[in-house]
This record gives sequence, structure tokens and C-alpha cells, in this order.
Amino acid sequence: MTTSKQTYSFSRLDLYAKCPRAFFHKYAEGRPTPGGTPAKIGKIFHFAMKLVYGDGYSPSEAVYSSILEERGMPEGEFSYKLVQMVERAYYRVEQLFHNEESDVMTEQHIVHTITDGKEERDFQAYLDIIVDNPGLDQLILVDFKTTWQPFLARDSMQLAIYAHLFEQMRSGITAGDFRGRLIFPRCNRSEDNEVIFVPENVDRGVKWAFEQIYAIESRDPSIAAEWEMKSGKHCEYCPFVNLCSSGLLNNLPACGEPANMEEAQAIGQYLFFQEQAIKTMKNGLKSFVTRQKAPIYIEGGAWETVQGTSNPKVPTSILLQYAREHGKDPEEVLAGNNDKVAQWITEDTTGFLSSNATYTKPRSSFKFNPKAKASAQAQTENVGGETNE
Ligand code: SF4
Repeated sequence: MTTSKQTYSFSRLDLYAKCPRAFFHKYAEGRPTPGGTPAKIGKIFHFAMKLVYGDGYSPSEAVYSSILEERGMPEGEFSYKLVQMVERAYYRVEQLFHNEESDVMTEQHIVHTITDGKEERDFQAYLDIIVDNPGLDQLILVDFKTTWQPFLARDSMQLAIYAHLFEQMRSGITAGDFRGRLIFPRCNRSEDNEVIFVPENVDRGVKWAFEQIYAIESRDPSIAAEWEMKSGKHCEYCPFVNLCSSGLLNNLPACGEPANMEEAQAIGQYLFFQEQAIKTMKNGLKSFVTRQKAPIYIEGGAWETVQGTSNPKVPTSILLQYAREHGKDPEEVLAGNNDKVAQWITEDTTGFLSSNATYTKPRSSFKFNPKAKASAQAQTENVGGETNE
């Protein structure tokens, strides 16, 4: 039996299974991987659950502390939704307790060996929650999933590997009823589901883990070409998309006209990576501009966040009543002309319309403004002019 110094984890193996090239960039080259929105939401949520179970925080206290810890929410996400998720998860875990003897352990960090009978490897895992129901001779390994798409616990290689790891750690002694449960706090409770651990499904997880491990160890960590790119939906949040894109650019015709099918596929793949890369970079620059509260000036304009306007909403029945009583043409406002509605509100000295109006939340958009540079230059020139006088 041989061993390797590397300590594996499910997320490592999963990254390799999804895309060997991403694994190479992260673990062989050691490039930093700033997480995208799903990763950040997962971190905030998991840390909040730890505060709830480990330190007795309320769900909202836990979420706001966790947001502070992670230095803010990702763009476009709302803290109240996270509080709801934590409340739901907490409630669903409570439902798993059998009686007062039931015990719960949170964020258990396990480092132990896993084995396929031929080889052993060090493996580490963070178990979200372990529910121990001694009255039922039952142990439940709970894993929270902050994804929008639920899936079956019996298909989860992660749960199967964790079950094996847990058994190894306890020298095979677990409980008569040993099961794993997935909780999806973004979804309805009916989507949560379980698997009873039996040797067949645990072995399937271990077999999958060793298939990834052997494949990783058979590749040279200094040769990028040995780690194939597996492009797909996961490229959307991949921090290495620029590397994949620029690596393909060499030898491609600048006009974009392919000489053959192979070149056509290479151009198609390049454009796919480019689109993902631009989307990712735009999101990153938008966050920067929002934090700095200042546009980024370049030749020909500036990238800036433009705050939308807040539009008035008045119920149709109120608009019709106002039109009837003031001899106005209702057609002016019923076609959804917000400017006209605003004009009517301003003109209405009785205050009837404004007292029935609500206002939409203004949306901000991030765009390139070709006029911004000109005004910035004008500002600079003005300032310069004043100084010179
Ligand atoms: S961009 Fe896609 S293909 Fe490239 S490393 Fe990332 S996941 Fe793999």
C-alpha cells in the first residue's frame, strides 16, 4: 500500500472532475481563486450556521456577523434572503432531533485516511452538522447546499465519501441507522432528501474518489497541456477563464475566417471563453467602481455606474378617477408613460395623486459612457484655467 503527502478533499476532487485545467491552475500552479457569487453566498451561509449552532446567535445576528466577516454581500444579493435561508435550515435541522438526548455537532473538521483496499490517501472534510439520536441508534450527516437546483442524496459522492471517512475515523463504529441528509435552504423542504448509508453506495463514492486521485497523480504538475480544458457552464464563475481564452488566441486567424473545421472549433471555443471573460471582468470592475464611488476614465470615455430613476406607480382606477374629475385624457397615462404620470402628479395641487402613488426602487446599471471623458477633460481644463489665472 502506498500513500501520498497530498491531503485531498471533496472540493479538490470535484474541481478536477469538472475541469482538470482549473485544478492545474489552482493546485499545481497555486494561483489565487477569488470566489464568485455562489461561493461567497455559500461561505456567508455556512459561517452563519456555525455561529447559530456553535455560539448561540440568532439567524439574523449570525448572518450580519457573517457578512461582516466576508466583507460584504455579493452584488445583486440581499441579506434578508440569507436570513430566511438560515432560519429555514435551522428549523429543518431541529426537525431531525428525536428527543432531549439528541445531540448536534457543527462544522466538524475531520482529517483521516480513506482507502479503496489497495491504497490509502489523507482526506479532509468539514461536516456541516452531525445529528446524533442515541434513542433511535441513529446518526445523520447533514450537508447544506445553497444551490437553486436540488439533487438526490443517493447520487452525492460527497456524502458517500464523508460516510466512509466517518466510519474510518470511528474504526467502523457509527450507528445502526447511519444516514446522510441534504438540506437545500433556498428550496422547499420537500426537496431535502436522504440516503441510508449501505456498503454499496459508500463504496461507489470511494471508487469515484480514487478514480480522480489516480488520474490526478498520473499527470505532470509542471505541464499545463497534460490537464485538459473541459469547458461548460462552470466556466461562468471560473477565475481562469482569461488564461484559457488567451491560450487559444495564438495561431488563430485575426479575421476570424477559419481555414478548416478544426480551426472553426478553436475560434468558437475562443469566443466562448472571451464572452465569459468579459462578463467576469465587467462584474469585477463594477464592484470596484461601486466601492470607489468613482468612474474609471480611459481614452474615449469612462466606465461608470448610472443610477436609474425612481418611477411613480398610481393605480389605474385612481388615474381614471382623476382624469374624469379634471377633464384629462386617460390615454396619456394608461400606456405606461412614467413621465406623464409624474407630470400629472406635479400638476395636481390637491395632492390626491401623490397620496396614492408609490415609487419603484431605482436600478443601477454599469456602462461605458463615451461622453464622460469629454466632461472630465473639461473639468480638468477648467480647474487648470482657474489655477493659471
Ligand atoms: S475557464 Fe472553463 S475550461 Fe478554462 S479552466 Fe476554467 S472551467 Fe476549465
